[in-house]
Amino acid sequence: APAETILALNNIEVIYDRVILVLKGVSLTVPKGGIVALLGANGAGKTTTLKAISNLLRAERGDVTKGNIRFHGKEVQALSPNELVRRGCIQVMEGRHCFGHLTIEENLLTGAYTRKDGAGAIRTNLEMVYSYFPRLRERRSSQAGYTSGGEQQMCAIGRALMSKPDMILLDEPSMGLAPQLVEEIFEIVKELNSQQGVSFLLAEQNTNVALKYATYGYILEAGRIVLDGAASALRENEDVKEFYLGVA
Ligand code: ATP
Repeated sequence: APAETILALNNIEVIYDRVILVLKGVSLTVPKGGIVALLGANGAGKTTTLKAISNLLRAERGDVTKGNIRFHGKEVQALSPNELVRRGCIQVMEGRHCFGHLTIEENLLTGAYTRKDGAGAIRTNLEMVYSYFPRLRERRSSQAGYTSGGEQQMCAIGRALMSKPDMILLDEPSMGLAPQLVEEIFEIVKELNSQQGVSFLLAEQNTNVALKYATYGYILEAGRIVLDGAASALRENEDVKEFYLGVA
C-alpha cells in the first residue's frame, strides 16, 4: 500500500505585497515518516514555501492566494502558527533563531510553550533532546549567544522537538556550517526520523547533503517545481548533476 501522506500542498500560489508573485503553483507531498528535500537556488522560493505551510507569511506581507495545504488530511491554512504547532507541525527557521541571552536549556524549555502536560513530561522530553544532542547537554548552562553556529542550529532543532512534533519544516540547516558539522546534524535528523518517527520537509541549497539523507526531492526554480523524484534518481539525473551537484 502507498505510504500515508502527512503533508500535502496543492497548487500553492503566494504573492508578496499584493503584486509580487513568488510561488506559481507549488504542489508537493511528504509521506508519513519521510524525509523530503525542497531544493533550489537562493531566491527560488524555498523559505516562502515553508512559511506558507506554517502560516508565517502575514508578517512579511505575503499571502497564499491559491491552492490548499493539508496536514494529516485537514486543511490548515486558517490556523495560526501556534495552532499548527499544537497539531504537530513546527518550523525551524533559517538562521537558528535562539534567544542569545538565555541559556541553551532555557531556550529548549521555551519550545514547550504550547504544551499542557506537566513538568515531568517536559523533563522527559528534555532528556530525549539531550540524548540526541549530547553537545547541548554539555552546553546546557551556556548562554546561547556564546555557543557555536553548530550548537545554535542544534538548539533550534532541539527547541522544536520540545513541542513533540510529528513533522518538522527545517529551513537551510547547513547554512554557514563546516561540512563535518553539517553531516553531524543530518545524521541526527536521520535518527530522529527513524527512531522518533518525525517527518521532515527540509529546504536546502546544499543539494549534495540533502539528497544523501532525503528519500525524495523536489527542485524549485523561480517559484515552480521543475523536477521531482526519489533522491537516488535525482542524484543520477544529468541536469541535477550539472546544475545542482557541481559534477557535470
Ligand atoms: P533563500 O535561500 O534566500 O531563503 P529561497 O529559495 O528560500 O531562498 P525565498 O526566500 O522564498 O527564496 O524568496 C523567494 C523570492 O521571494 C525571492 O525573489 C525574494 O526576493 C522574494 N521575497 C521573499 N520575501 C519577500 C518579501 N517579504 N517581500 C517581497 N519579496 C520577497
